Amino acid sequence: MTCLPHSNIKDQLEETLKKIKEANQLSIGYPISKDFDYSPLFEFLNYPINNLGDPFVDSTYKVQTRDMERDVIDFFAHLLRANKDDYWGYVTNGGSESNLYGLYIARELYPKAMVYYSESTHYSVKKNIQLLNIPSIVIRSNDNGEIDYDDLQNTLQYNRHLPAIILSNFGTTMKEAKDDVSKIKSILKKLAIQDHYIHCDAALSGAYGAFLENRIPFDIADGADSISISGHKFIGSPIPCGVVITKRSLRDRVSKSVSYIGTLDTTITGSRNGHSALFLWYALMHLGVDGLKSRYDNALEVAEYCKAKLQHLGIPAWSNPGAITVVFPKTSEALKQKWQLATEEHITHIICMSNVTKSQIDLFIEDVVLEMENNRVLA
Ligand SMILES: *Cc1c(COP(=O)(O)O)cnc(C)c1O
Repeated sequence: MTCLPHSNIKDQLEETLKKIKEANQLSIGYPISKDFDYSPLFEFLNYPINNLGDPFVDSTYKVQTRDMERDVIDFFAHLLRANKDDYWGYVTNGGSESNLYGLYIARELYPKAMVYYSESTHYSVKKNIQLLNIPSIVIRSNDNGEIDYDDLQNTLQYNRHLPAIILSNFGTTMKEAKDDVSKIKSILKKLAIQDHYIHCDAALSGAYGAFLENRIPFDIADGADSISISGHKFIGSPIPCGVVITKRSLRDRVSKSVSYIGTLDTTITGSRNGHSALFLWYALMHLGVDGLKSRYDNALEVAEYCKAKLQHLGIPAWSNPGAITVVFPKTSEALKQKWQLATEEHITHIICMSNVTKSQIDLFIEDVVLEMENNRVLA
């Protein structure tokens, strides 16, 4: 293929940008925050920033943002109540990589273990388990999407001679259900399964889980050994990214020193995105814990508003306690396409990330009302 004339390149860029802008406005079905402004960071795009290797060990390569990455890890370690003398983590390419990391450490610790995860678990987990070649058992979910603790207990009991790796969810993809890590811990204790590891997939809700009015146990102090959070979801980033938080003592078991990069090869990828660490740092330093909390409070208010509006129309909308995801029966194909609503079986949802406003909900509701009226005329 020969190269494109300059004018064509310009046209195509403009057209793509226009499409992205339009689509961005009507997206209320995916957990992607869009209310960010990283324009003061433009200049950084001129540099090949690469945080290769372990963020806590200096590397020979100096075009990097590891100090900011460490601030990001410190922030989350504190928020997720990790032991201040025994935590570790890094900025990943997203929740999927963070989940892979948690499961990887778990398997290195317990090579003969069985993994247990509920049927509401994100598809990245199944793929990761396949990649790592760990045997696994799927546990039933309750109607609200939370793991069925009785089924978990019975299944664990049956396999209690094996070390157990439990994948708990904190914010499932469709219903934003949250598994209670303290209940999982007490089941393990009751069955006297001492060799166990809990990885909490908090890709969706980990960034605001600390602020729930009625706290649901999920963090390191509650008993999780590692936690995943997506950076481009609740916080927002132009580049997909995530964070994994675990214990330093656990990561020490998998660390290998590599002289070529002059640091430890403790991460899944070698070269790592230094820009996303910079973006997350910028967002977190501006927000602080209080800003993150008010971001959550606003999102929750919009979710309650959305739920009430739908219920007012006679639509059986509901949400899990403290969730910013409103679940309801799936809409027509036209509304699904227009508002980018993800569906699964008979349900769909609106996820009230901070950029979703009440007036946007009103516009969506207008569409629903219009459709209901048209259907009535047709019927
Ligand atoms: C989004 C999500 C993931 C995957 O995260 P990515 O950042 O898309 O890789 C995993 N688990 C849950 C529950 C999620 O919502």
